[in-house]
Amino acid sequence: MRTTRWSPDTCDCVIEYNIDETGNTTFKNTVKTCPAHSKHHGKTDHFSVVLEENQRKNKTLAEAAEIAGVNLNPDEVISSMSFGTEEEKIVYEQTLKEGMKVKAQKFVKEFNSSYQFDKDRKLIVNHPSMTAAQKTVLQNKTGNNVRID
Ligand SMILES: [Zn+2]
Repeated sequence: MRTTRWSPDTCDCVIEYNIDETGNTTFKNTVKTCPAHSKHHGKTDHFSVVLEENQRKNKTLAEAAEIAGVNLNPDEVISSMSFGTEEEKIVYEQTLKEGMKVKAQKFVKEFNSSYQFDKDRKLIVNHPSMTAAQKTVLQNKTGNNVRID
């Protein structure tokens, strides 16, 4: 069991969580709470709410990159790895998440994209370089808690 301090790139919260030897994460402590998450301050769901938003953003931007044909495929690297122990599996999963994050960051940089959350914490993604057809594909994949502009 170890404790990690996390500053997400989706808001100004700072949260500490525990990660156990099987990779399970649990909330430990609120270090700082942004205005949007004030009602979660110090509560167990602070971590899960912020994590969901962060993963939703990463997933949406990674899917956008996929649809727009950004040439970066961390999965190819991962698929060449072999893992047999629980520890290796954790590394594998973290790499997968990291790959998604790298893809999302690359997309934002190369395509001059931006994202924000509205007052209801709906993710608003702006992609000036995507075609209307690509945006429709992305919107259909992401669902109601994301809006593609
Ligand atoms: Zn926050």
